[in-house]
Amino acid sequence: MVTTRFAPSPTGRLHVGNIRTALHNWMLAQNSGGDFILRIDDTDAERSREEYVDAIRADLKWLGLDWTREERQSTRLDAYQAAFEKLREAGRIYPAYETQQELELKRKVLLGRGLPPIYDRGALDLTDEQRAAKEAEGIKPHWRFKLDHDEALEWVDGVRGPTKFDAKLLSDPVIRRADGSWLYMLPSTVDDVDMGVTQVLRGEDHVSNTAVQIQMFTAMGAEPPAFAHEALLVGKEGKLSKRLGSLGCDAFREKGVEPEAIIALLSRLGTSLPVEPIADRAKLLETFDLGTFGRAPAKFDDAELERINTAIVHQMSFDVVKDRLPDGMDKAGWHAVQPNISTVGEVAEWWRLVTGPIEQPEFSDEDKAYLKLACETLVWGEDPWGALTSELKEATGRKGKQLFLPLRQALTGMNHGPDMGELLPLIGEAEARSRLLKAVG
Ligand code: GLU
Repeated sequence: MVTTRFAPSPTGRLHVGNIRTALHNWMLAQNSGGDFILRIDDTDAERSREEYVDAIRADLKWLGLDWTREERQSTRLDAYQAAFEKLREAGRIYPAYETQQELELKRKVLLGRGLPPIYDRGALDLTDEQRAAKEAEGIKPHWRFKLDHDEALEWVDGVRGPTKFDAKLLSDPVIRRADGSWLYMLPSTVDDVDMGVTQVLRGEDHVSNTAVQIQMFTAMGAEPPAFAHEALLVGKEGKLSKRLGSLGCDAFREKGVEPEAIIALLSRLGTSLPVEPIADRAKLLETFDLGTFGRAPAKFDDAELERINTAIVHQMSFDVVKDRLPDGMDKAGWHAVQPNISTVGEVAEWWRLVTGPIEQPEFSDEDKAYLKLACETLVWGEDPWGALTSELKEATGRKGKQLFLPLRQALTGMNHGPDMGELLPLIGEAEARSRLLKAVG
């Protein structure tokens, strides 16, 4: 039984990188019929905001990434405290009293000597008296997790393959601040154990955290989950640009980007599979495989998203969009307009050509005579446009643009637009005649 989790901190809106991580965790769970937990990492009371929790939920719902359970770190402080005490008793957590400045100085000295800035474990050298003296001065300790330098830090990463760290080259991480508040590392591990998480899939920026957390799992007597770290998502020009990619779902929605376009793109971006406008999630799920994920950063390109979106919009059935269409727009209307739009919102613009009023250009006398003839020739049958244009072609010898453009301009006020064969029946006979007559003047 697979259990995955998406663990955002509610300190901001989800951006495309978070969405990708959420999606992949959702996909892993879907493919095995397992659980997908939404875990709100809100131990940072100062920066966490309820409005972001709501926005995260709303965004995931909009994307169709339904979670099976929701958990909140702020409700689990007792569990963290219990784990803390156990680990402390076992000698794996120790108090440290250095100030920020002292630590900074130590770092600088090491870096100046060309050495990695690893914490020197100075706090472990303190005698009981020295500690008592600090406490007497009113200095409260922060807390570090003591890495076991002899325990191998290895795992077979779902994306990166065999991965290894040397514990001696890592600093003992601070896990708790002097005010008692928690840093990310320990609560996350406690949650993964208690919530039965079997697969942790997250960004590459967490690789060294994994090394540390593996020791936390073993120190707590738990089997570590399977880990996979995906390469980060970057913008086309390097960093995630200030354009669509860095923005959240509100920006996507506003731009008319369909959730299915985001899902199709993010399912495969950075993998060896081709990015295709696949609107059927079952198909994307079928081919989803961590083994196809590349090690190089995945490049997110707004223009690619827009292309995928257009292709997805062109596949959408009337039933799927009908609630979002202008009043009176039926299936035939949708089909007439669909090839001309790149977002569903654009239908309104084209639908206006059917409902009117339209604004016609000035016509030359020659074209006026032509349009008069068109009005007389118009017969309302199966295919009024086909019949009208072939009659006019025969009668006038006009062809191409000369034949079609004045008609399109008179009937829609535009030089281009949806297929007239589909549009004319929607405009209707009476309205078509009245537009032609108005053009004649
Ligand atoms: N709250 C953490 C983050 O957003 C979660 C990381 C994790 O998946 O363990 O980076």
